[in-house]
Amino acid sequence: MEHLKSGAARLELPLTSKQLRQFHIYYQELVSWNEQINLTSITGFRDVQIKHFLDSLTIIKAFKQPDGKQLRVIDIGTGAGFPGLPVKIALPDIALVLLEATAKKAVFLRHLIAALELEDVDIVAGRAEDIAHQEQYRQKFDLVLSRAVAPLATLAELALPLCAVGGRLIAQKKGAIDRETARAGRAINLLGGGQPEIKRIELAELGGERCLVIIEKIAPSPQKYPRRPGMPAKRPIV
Ligand code: SAH
Repeated sequence: MEHLKSGAARLELPLTSKQLRQFHIYYQELVSWNEQINLTSITGFRDVQIKHFLDSLTIIKAFKQPDGKQLRVIDIGTGAGFPGLPVKIALPDIALVLLEATAKKAVFLRHLIAALELEDVDIVAGRAEDIAHQEQYRQKFDLVLSRAVAPLATLAELALPLCAVGGRLIAQKKGAIDRETARAGRAINLLGGGQPEIKRIELAELGGERCLVIIEKIAPSPQKYPRRPGMPAKRPIV
């Protein structure tokens, strides 16, 4: 696990041998289940360490300083657990919800949580458009995370209603982000988000052009959002 270990150290997130063992189990379960269900196209040992594990950990760079209370975190469209689960391994004290629309992937995640012996992780099989209207989840999270799920205008509608006022949405993005951010301005504003802040991630092995888009939740989201399943993607608020 040298690639992960050294990269994480450079991110100032040193991993213990227990954490490295958990990542190793994660790798084994991922490639093994990937033979039955489509979880990832990245399966090489080095590639998974860098492009999934290390890449996921970079999102911690946009977390707020802990204030003593347990952080409530949700990862929207987590797929095989990215970025939420590497974050949970690195920061075991958080309370994490992994939200995933595909039932089979949720089955994998439940198996994985047991194999990794993690506590305070809930796997929710469903769509953000529905979950965000449930009292239990609506505006309840300090941090809403997401990687590779939707363009920012769509993501703002899916994610900001889950975020508590005072919390923040952190989206992992690649490549030129300025146009996407500008296009999402109206949705972010309508959903109660503040001005997006872009944080560049510089880690040699990840290549350039990675960034985190950080949006503070400054006002409650109007009750009508998100619209019904599919609408935020089909007709983004622009
Ligand atoms: N975040 C993971 C997976 C990205 S693929 C990663 O970076 O590797 C996008 C995932 O989001 C898919 O697994 C898809 O099922 C899920 N997804 C897409 N739209 C969703 C929605 N509206 N609610 C919940 N999950 C969604």
